[in-house]
Amino acid sequence: MTDATLPASEGGTPVRADFLPFAQPSIGQEEIDAVVDTLKSGWLTVGPRTRRFEEVVAEYIGVRGAAAVSSCSAGLHLAMVAFGVGSGDEVIMPVLNFAAAANMAIHLGARPVLVDVEPETLNVTAEILETGITRRTKLLIPIHFAGRPCEMEPILDLARSRNLKVLGDGAHAMGADNAGKKVGSAADATSFSFYVTKCVTTGEGGMVTSDDTSVTDKVAELSLHGMSRDAWKRYSDRGSWYYEIVDAGYKYNMSDIQAAIGLCQMRRIDELRNARDRIAHAYDEAFRDLSGVVVPTLRVNGHHAHHLYPIKVDPAILGVPRGAFIDSLKAEGIGVSVHFIPLHLHPFFRRHLGYAAGEFPITESYYERAISLPIYPAMTTKDVSDVIEAVTKLHNHYAR
Ligand SMILES: *Cc1c(COP(=O)(O)O)cnc(C)c1O
Repeated sequence: MTDATLPASEGGTPVRADFLPFAQPSIGQEEIDAVVDTLKSGWLTVGPRTRRFEEVVAEYIGVRGAAAVSSCSAGLHLAMVAFGVGSGDEVIMPVLNFAAAANMAIHLGARPVLVDVEPETLNVTAEILETGITRRTKLLIPIHFAGRPCEMEPILDLARSRNLKVLGDGAHAMGADNAGKKVGSAADATSFSFYVTKCVTTGEGGMVTSDDTSVTDKVAELSLHGMSRDAWKRYSDRGSWYYEIVDAGYKYNMSDIQAAIGLCQMRRIDELRNARDRIAHAYDEAFRDLSGVVVPTLRVNGHHAHHLYPIKVDPAILGVPRGAFIDSLKAEGIGVSVHFIPLHLHPFFRRHLGYAAGEFPITESYYERAISLPIYPAMTTKDVSDVIEAVTKLHNHYAR
């Protein structure tokens, strides 16, 4: 007889026999049909579907400009180029971060200046960003962490008073809004990700939005080798063979196959966001009274996109370190992750930027306890209750 309360890692029965992945895309028949139609159309690369996808996203966000690119990283890169970031400049970003913005800044010869985050929201604030400003600062890059929108008004006021630009990293936050403004509308530009785990996916892909079309036009031009913007039409009956290279661009364009998926996902965006919202609230309800688990604050003045649901486990109460808790969840059949390993703890950034462990206490203390639970629309009611059961089972076994 195995004991149902005994962790599977110690020989008990796992909550699930089949493994629940940490993330899976929500792809329906509509997306499959749209890809097949695109393949049959004969036009696979950037073209009419990509242009339509840009219009749909611009209209949804409520901005004049949107430029589709191959990834959020590419979008961050090109927006930095459009803002004139170059050698010797500094760009300020949170240390609780993926490598994308920092790597892109380094490729441009700029220095990523890392700042800590606010403990409750895990976002940067204007006050925190201000601590990183020097006379070399050119750009502020706040992240809407986990899908929670940053308070943008004070950040924009700070930027205006110091003659800086604000580039939002919107990778987690398609669909989020704060104080009546969608993420992507309250910044000089915002780069979104359509990577497979993100709230809206095209498999791989990204989009830069801005109310200033000179920024998105520049991004679009740079995304296709610096060709004049309508050069994609050169193989169609509406285009001309003649084009001009007007800048040293990159090969960062989206394809119409990706855009076809994105158009379906944008039609479903409310459904997708509501599904994530329901899971977040089910977790909140289930975990709020577990003494060894701290749930994320969900309350926002608008909509949270819930790309991630990061709990914090308290090793003092659970008697096991975070890593052991993750291993035990895996043994129960639940895939989890950690967002993020703080940038300054990676060997490259440590070496290149000269930071040391201990410099960012809020991010480091969060990181030592953080576990991101599965949260995605393709989860069934049973998947959600299995996650709840596994976390509760392990918590109650280990708590003391
Ligand atoms: C996923 C992610 C990115 C990169 O997105 P890609 O589309 O894969 O380039 C950038 N920033 C953050 C915060 C992310 O989570």
